[in-house]
Amino acid sequence: MSMLQRSFAARLACALALVAAAGLLRYALEPWLADNAPFLLFAPAILAAAVLAGPLAASIATGPALLLGLYFAGYRGDGTYNLVEAAVFLLTAAGIVALSQAFERMRKRMHESDRHAARRDAEAALVAEELNLLIDGAQGHAIYLLDAEGRITIWNKGAERLKGWCEDEVVGKESAIFYPPDAVAAGRPAEDLATAVREGRLETEDWRVRKDGSEFLADVSITALRNDDGSLRGFAKIVSDITGRRASEEALRSQQSHLRSILSTVPDAMVVIDDQGLIVSFSAAAERLFGYQEAELLGVNVSRLMPSPDRERHDAYIRRFLETGEKRIIGIGRVVFAERKNGSTFPMELSIGEASSDSHPLFTGFIRDLTERQRTEARLESLQSELIHVSRVSAMGTMASTLAHELNQPLTAVANYVEAIRDLLADPDPADMPMVRDALDDTAKEALRAGHIVRRLRDFVARGEVEKTIEKLPLLINEAAVLGLMGAREKSVEPRFDLDPYASPVLVDKVQIQQVLINLIRNAVEAMADSPVRQLTVTSRPDQRGFVRVIVADTGPGVTPEVAEQLFTAFVSTKAEGMGLGLSICRTIVEANGGRIWMEKRPGGGTEFHFTLVSAKAEEDDVG
Ligand code: ADP
Repeated sequence: MSMLQRSFAARLACALALVAAAGLLRYALEPWLADNAPFLLFAPAILAAAVLAGPLAASIATGPALLLGLYFAGYRGDGTYNLVEAAVFLLTAAGIVALSQAFERMRKRMHESDRHAARRDAEAALVAEELNLLIDGAQGHAIYLLDAEGRITIWNKGAERLKGWCEDEVVGKESAIFYPPDAVAAGRPAEDLATAVREGRLETEDWRVRKDGSEFLADVSITALRNDDGSLRGFAKIVSDITGRRASEEALRSQQSHLRSILSTVPDAMVVIDDQGLIVSFSAAAERLFGYQEAELLGVNVSRLMPSPDRERHDAYIRRFLETGEKRIIGIGRVVFAERKNGSTFPMELSIGEASSDSHPLFTGFIRDLTERQRTEARLESLQSELIHVSRVSAMGTMASTLAHELNQPLTAVANYVEAIRDLLADPDPADMPMVRDALDDTAKEALRAGHIVRRLRDFVARGEVEKTIEKLPLLINEAAVLGLMGAREKSVEPRFDLDPYASPVLVDKVQIQQVLINLIRNAVEAMADSPVRQLTVTSRPDQRGFVRVIVADTGPGVTPEVAEQLFTAFVSTKAEGMGLGLSICRTIVEANGGRIWMEKRPGGGTEFHFTLVSAKAEEDDVG
């Protein structure tokens, strides 16, 4: 091998030196050999050169050897005989060179394949080591091999960790030692291997035992390994412990079914949405309430369940909450309107909760249908609305009789005074004038007293004292609308709400303003009784600086000009049973709350009642 590494020049020098040495030796033997066997020593020299310096150096050295041989043979003899010897020498040298070339090639090839083999060995060792590391490191998995008879041949650290036995203890043992006694008795180990042989692979979940005797639920995979000729070589087994996983799956399942059973018994409808407003769950009660199937709504924006304008605004509500954390509805129950699949709307009580799952916020909405409740208590309800009407009438009746009674006195007095004055003036006497003046003074006093009584009564109806608090206007309107609209659905009135969340909060006496709204809504519903289109719209929006405006609009016949003139005056009514006090009380209330109320014609027919309320918003964000 060292020869191969030497440079070609050195090898050539070596070959030439060998020929030179042969030449010197031949020269020394000249006295004995004379001109016999001139090439004798040169053939071994070429052979030695081929062995030591390689075929190429040997073939080059053949040239000088031939010349030297010819020198020893040719220059003293006749040459003929020597030429034959020279040819024999050349052939011999060529044979030697060819042989050595073949030999060289063979040696090179052997050397190459040695190197290849070494490299492959190294690679195989590396792969095997990596594979071992991988198998050993596979947490929770035992990976091992069995021979064709089912005896363990290769066992790894993962298997040791999982099952407790170390390599020395199990190699050569039957894999039946991993089965519980009853499975062994039933012949399961052999059965499993037979299945793997028959089907190529067996996947199963079964109980297995550890060295310490404890049992665990295992996910087992047995693969039959075959030789190229198809004969069975053994089995590869992968076993993992799934006891924990199964237990937590069980726990989760039981929790889920528990939750489902609770939810299915809750009479309220429930809708769960994610932070994008998309519906994640829709309970059976919700399906009944809205007329949708859960499958139709999963992944659909929850705004589908809302009438305008909430439908368009809902995404902004969620965004606002997620950005600011400001809770406008979460954790607070409120009455809002919802829309069914068939497009009809209904009032509902909504409570929203916030839940977090995997850092994604989820919102749960519990919905109580107020109309549903109304329908089940239909009888009670109609009674109730009757009652409201009756009580209103009777309250008015009581008030009217009180009024009549109280007014009786000052009016009788006025009449008496006036009659007395008339008598005195029948026969005018200047001496009576002071008496007439006194009587007129008293008449004026009594008349003022009568006026005072009327005012006091009106104040009493309007509940006199005003208790102002800061209220959310949409909430206030929604609550009042639910009461005002009782029975309106049966009259085919279609309520619409356009409540601007920025027109809130307001500083008002909540009960009084709700009374105003109920009054206006009831008037509107009554006015539309004979109208082809029965649309009631309640709108709220910011008004001039410091105020918000509420508008109750209907598509009724409108107000006649005569009535319009004294609309807010007491005792003006076009209704058979009407007291004509509603609007006058509304005005007293709105004005006592610091606002104004007026009527406008609705464009396209109908009536609009407008009133303003004092905004309770901080001055700075009051613009617009
Ligand atoms: P009442 O309802 O007892 O008649 P109101 O003061 O509430 O008393 O109403 C006075 C009158 O105003 C009603 O009789 C009716 O003629 C008229 N009115 C009130 N609201 C409307 C309306 N939305 N559309 C048409 N007319 C109305």
